[in-house]
Amino acid sequence: MEQYLHIKPIMKTLYTFILISIFFLQACSQGRTDKAMEQQSQIPDSMKVIKSDSEWKQVLTPIQYHVTRESGTEKPFSGEYTDHFEKGHYYCVCCENELFESDTKFHSSCGWPSFYDKSKPNNIVEVLDKSLGMKRIEVRCGICDAHLGHVFNDGPAPTYLRYCINSAAIVFKND
Ligand SMILES: [Zn+2]
Repeated sequence: MEQYLHIKPIMKTLYTFILISIFFLQACSQGRTDKAMEQQSQIPDSMKVIKSDSEWKQVLTPIQYHVTRESGTEKPFSGEYTDHFEKGHYYCVCCENELFESDTKFHSSCGWPSFYDKSKPNNIVEVLDKSLGMKRIEVRCGICDAHLGHVFNDGPAPTYLRYCINSAAIVFKND
């Protein structure tokens, strides 16, 4: 019997080791997932538009400023582009960077303009947003860093993405 007494502490140590290993593996894989969700801007710094808060306030309406510079959200079904389906392109309200085209716009019933793809891959930056106790992918302008909205994985084919964008962050122009 005595020869088995030392097994208990060894099992305890082994159990603790396994628990710590699982914790680190989970933390590492989570870090990789979070990183894979993010998409950095490929636009060189020399092309970026940088203004102070007071400068942005001079050129934007209060709701445009709140959404784009303070990462705000307009009320659902309140924006001018939610049910807007004319043919053309949508540009950043702050810097006129091309963001979306009407061919990828669809009616999602969520209350905000929805697109299943971005116009040019590098013009939009996607970053992990952990605010409000949720894990979402925030969509920002690659040129001026304006907050535009979020992208979700419940859109239609072919991308199955839904770029949920504030009307206050974009401006439509006919082709
Ligand atoms: Zn912009």
